[in-house]
Amino acid sequence: MKKIALVPGDGIGPEVISSALRVLNAAGFDGELVEFDIGYGRWRRDGKAITDDDIERMKDCDCILFGAITTPPDPGYRSVLIRIRKELDLYANIRPLRSSRIDVIIVRENTEGLYSGLEMLGDEEARTVRVITRKGSQRIAEVACRIASERKHLTIIHKANVLKSDVLFLKTCREVAERYGIRYDDMLVDAAAYNMVIRPEMFDVMVTTNLFGDILSDEGAGIVGSLGLCASANLGDRWALFEPIHGSAPDIAGNGIANPVGAIRSAAMMLEWFGEMERAQSIHQAVDRTLSKGVKTPDLGGLCTTSEFTDAVIDEMRRAG
Ligand code: ATP
Ligand code: MG
Repeated sequence: MKKIALVPGDGIGPEVISSALRVLNAAGFDGELVEFDIGYGRWRRDGKAITDDDIERMKDCDCILFGAITTPPDPGYRSVLIRIRKELDLYANIRPLRSSRIDVIIVRENTEGLYSGLEMLGDEEARTVRVITRKGSQRIAEVACRIASERKHLTIIHKANVLKSDVLFLKTCREVAERYGIRYDDMLVDAAAYNMVIRPEMFDVMVTTNLFGDILSDEGAGIVGSLGLCASANLGDRWALFEPIHGSAPDIAGNGIANPVGAIRSAAMMLEWFGEMERAQSIHQAVDRTLSKGVKTPDLGGLCTTSEFTDAVIDEMRRAG
């Protein structure tokens, strides 16, 4: 039986995670859940957002299902998610973007690039070193190629005409794509940002470096239409973490109106990672049918509560058999 670390977190995190669990249950998924009380709420109670012991207990699980954690603008507070990503070496950030306009998966390198931490801040000059390694590029390209080999093609997004570091990234990604024998091309990041808005249908799987991926993923969420709809996975070679892309949304927390689609699709991505493709598919299709019938939470202009929406998804699953 799979062992899942459950992190409901802060704000709307627990509300959307409870929907995701109900849907997993309705899909017939049976796993052991280990709940973790970590995040900003815990920090305010006992001064620790997450402990070494929490990390060790997480490593004893197969993966993490994560709601959302508030990161306050307090200099003494270190982001819990960044710590987990580091300790579990979750180097690939996967964000599927799906709507009537777009059907893309963005694969973002999550450990190096401009987020390598090699920085200097002075009064007259500041520097951030952009580190691209062959090993880092290779492993993210492999994740992207595995995904692309089951879809249509891969686009390598870069700025190799200006950045030497991207010459290595592009070259390495091409080599991996050749080895996988998949269809691929490449595009400058500025052109890609433009084309995602103008002709999103030209993209299928996109692979890119850390900062470009950060920006393009949020652009993509904007094209999909709501933060509440998008899911993501953070993959390493051993562990994985699945989370909706939205934050803890303190402005609507406690009202029971959060859109749970991002969390529900994140749970479905977890099933895909376990190889339970049919169950995952049944969840995605039930969500699609529910939305297309106009059953929507207020962020999409509807009147449903989180739990009414979740009931509707579970009804669709039952109806499909
Ligand atoms: P955090 O600091 O945890 O990121 P935030 O204040 O930035 O919190 P986000 O969660 O990033 O809030 O959300 C930004 C806006 O989008 C908020 O107004 C929030 O209410 C809305 N929003 C985010 N997620 C959802 C959701 N699942 N359903 C409905 N609205 C959402
Ligand atoms: Mg936010």
